[in-house]
Amino acid sequence: MSRVHGDDDAVQKSDVDSHAEPLVTVDGLKTYYHDSRLLGDPPVRAVDDVSFDIREGETFGIVGESGCGKTTLGRSLIGLETADSGEIVVNGRDITGLSGGEKREWQRDAQMVFQDPEESLNDRMTIGEIVREPLDAHDWGTPDERRERVAYFLDRVGLQPEHYYRYPHQFSGGQRQRIGIARALVLEPEFVVLDEPVSALDVSVQARIINLLEELQDELGLTYLFIAHDLSVVRHICDRVGVMYLGNIVERGPTEAIFTDPQHPYTDALLSAIPGDRTAGAASNRERVTLRGTPPSPRYPPDGCPFTNRCPAKVHPDEFSDLDHETWVAIEEFRDVLRARDRADTNLLTRLQGSLGVDVAGEEVDEIVAELFGDRSLPEEVRTVIDEAADRARTGADGEAADHLGDAFGSVCDEEYPEAHEIEADRVSRCVRHREEYRDIDTVLAERHRGD
Ligand code: SF4
Repeated sequence: MSRVHGDDDAVQKSDVDSHAEPLVTVDGLKTYYHDSRLLGDPPVRAVDDVSFDIREGETFGIVGESGCGKTTLGRSLIGLETADSGEIVVNGRDITGLSGGEKREWQRDAQMVFQDPEESLNDRMTIGEIVREPLDAHDWGTPDERRERVAYFLDRVGLQPEHYYRYPHQFSGGQRQRIGIARALVLEPEFVVLDEPVSALDVSVQARIINLLEELQDELGLTYLFIAHDLSVVRHICDRVGVMYLGNIVERGPTEAIFTDPQHPYTDALLSAIPGDRTAGAASNRERVTLRGTPPSPRYPPDGCPFTNRCPAKVHPDEFSDLDHETWVAIEEFRDVLRARDRADTNLLTRLQGSLGVDVAGEEVDEIVAELFGDRSLPEEVRTVIDEAADRARTGADGEAADHLGDAFGSVCDEEYPEAHEIEADRVSRCVRHREEYRDIDTVLAERHRGD
C-alpha cells in the first residue's frame, strides 16, 4: 500500500515481495443468489468463476461499476456469503466449506470494514460496547483485558478515552469510520476486507482514513482486499488490482501497469472516464470511451464474453468489416431490446427505453428500427437481415429475431468465454483479442479513442 499525504498526490509505493507466498488464494469462485428459483428464474450470478491471490502484507484492489459483484466477492472471502463452488484457501487452509465452530474460529482472523459508517454501527450501543462486541462474541480474555484492549484500539484509531461511553450519532462520518476500523481490528485479524471504506466520506477526511489504514497495516502486518469504484483512490493505495465486470475479473495485475497500459477493453473504458487525473499516464491522454447502456442483468449474462454487448473493441465477422462502429452499436442495441422483450426483463427494458426514447416493451418494432437505423445508409445484405429480424419481432417472436441477428452478426465474442491470457508475469486479461488471429488490442483501442 502507498501512502496518501493530505491533499497532495505524493505516493510512496511499499515493496511487497512479488514472490511472497499468497495469504489468500481464490480459485474458480462462484457465488450465486438463488432467491427467485421457485418462480423459475435463474440465479443471480453475483460472482462467476473468479480466481486470484493476495500476498501477505499487500493491498489488493477490486474495482468495477456498481453491481459488478465486488461486495459479494468480499463477503464471500470472509464467510458472510456461501460460495456455490470454487475454493478459498487462507494460509493454506480451505475455508470454503467451514461451518459452525470452525467457521467462527476462523472468522477471528478475517474481518470487514463496511462502506457506510452511518449504517454499520448500532446507534443503541456505546462506542465501547460496539468495539468490544467481537471480543465478547469470541470470549476473548477477561473483562478487564477486554476493556484495556478496546481503550488501546480507540486510541490507536485517533479517538479519546471519553468516547468509550458515547453513542455513534454523536460522531462525524470520519470518526464513525474510525470506530468501524477499531471494531474490525480489535481481534487482530490477519486479513481485512475494506468495502468502499472512504467513499461515503468528504475528500479531506478520505486521505486521513487511508493513511490510518496504511499505518495499521504496517504496524499489525495486515493484508487488505480494498474494494472501490473510485479509481484514483485505488491507484494510490493498491499494490495490485483486479478489474471486475458482471461477476468476472476481466483483467488483473500490478496497479501501475494496469493504469498506464490497460489491456482489456473494459479496463480501458473505465480508466478513460477518470476526470483530469494528471498522474494517470498514457491512459489519460486519450479521448474518453463512452460505453453504451449498462451491464446486462447478472441473472442473464451473455453466453460468451461477459462484456460482449457493450464492448467497443468487439470482434466482428470479416464479411462486414466495412461497417462503421456506430452501426455495430445500433445492431447490438437492437439485439439487446429483442432479448429483453423475449425475457420480459422489465429492468433492462426500462433502461433501454430511457436510452432510445421509444416504448421498447410494446409492439412498436417499426419505431425501434427507425430510431436505431432510420438515418443510416446500410449495405443491402445488412438491411435485409435487420428487416427479417423486425418481421419476426412484429409477430412476437422476439427470441427468434434476436437469434437471427446473432446468426448473421455474432462473433467469437458471443460464443466463447475468453481464457485468461497472460500478458506478462503477474498480468492477466480475458479477451480474445490477445490471440494472434485477431487485430491487436492496442490498435483497436487507439481507434476507439480517436472515435474511428
Ligand atoms: S472478448 Fe470480445 S467482447 Fe470481450 S472484451 Fe475482448 S473483444 Fe471485447
